[in-house]
Amino acid sequence: MKRIALFPGSFDPLTMGHLDTIERGAKLFDELIIGVFVNTTKKSYFTSEEKLEVVKETVAHIPNVRVIGQENELTVNVAEKLGAKFLLRGIRSVKDYEYEKEIAYMNHHLDHKLETVFLLAEPKYSHISSSILKEVWAFNGDIKEYVPDAVYRALEEKRENSEK
Ligand code: ADP
Repeated sequence: MKRIALFPGSFDPLTMGHLDTIERGAKLFDELIIGVFVNTTKKSYFTSEEKLEVVKETVAHIPNVRVIGQENELTVNVAEKLGAKFLLRGIRSVKDYEYEKEIAYMNHHLDHKLETVFLLAEPKYSHISSSILKEVWAFNGDIKEYVPDAVYRALEEKRENSEK
């Protein structure tokens, strides 16, 4: 049986921390599917289409990774449809652990067959989040080393369009 994992997230935008988790996660499973979803508790900066495009471009070099877009459905149902028995998530800190634990227990309650697998963030990326990078970017701070090239280009494009 193929071991399939789903990595759901809002990826608004994808950071080097996310990419590191994807690259390491891809080695653990036969197939890793990235779910570029909407987090209803967060206001999105990029549209779903923009996020999907940059994630696809960024992971194109990893053969067993594919990307899917927004599904108006529970993550556990999406995983079942995809045949994914694992969810992949990343943990940067104790704060993440508390948040991730709640989600993982809830998902386990909704589907007992689904296991959440956590990867600890790479130390050099453990202090970055999409939110903090957007904040720094908004005030012209340098974030280049923390985002993949495609994301950096998308950020520049968005800035140019907003200045028009
Ligand atoms: P969500 O809104 O669903 O939390 P995010 O895009 O913010 O989606 O995060 C998706 C997953 O990636 C979460 O498990 C989060 O903890 C993890 N993550 C976020 N930033 C990093 C990072 N710098 N390094 C490793 N994992 C991260």
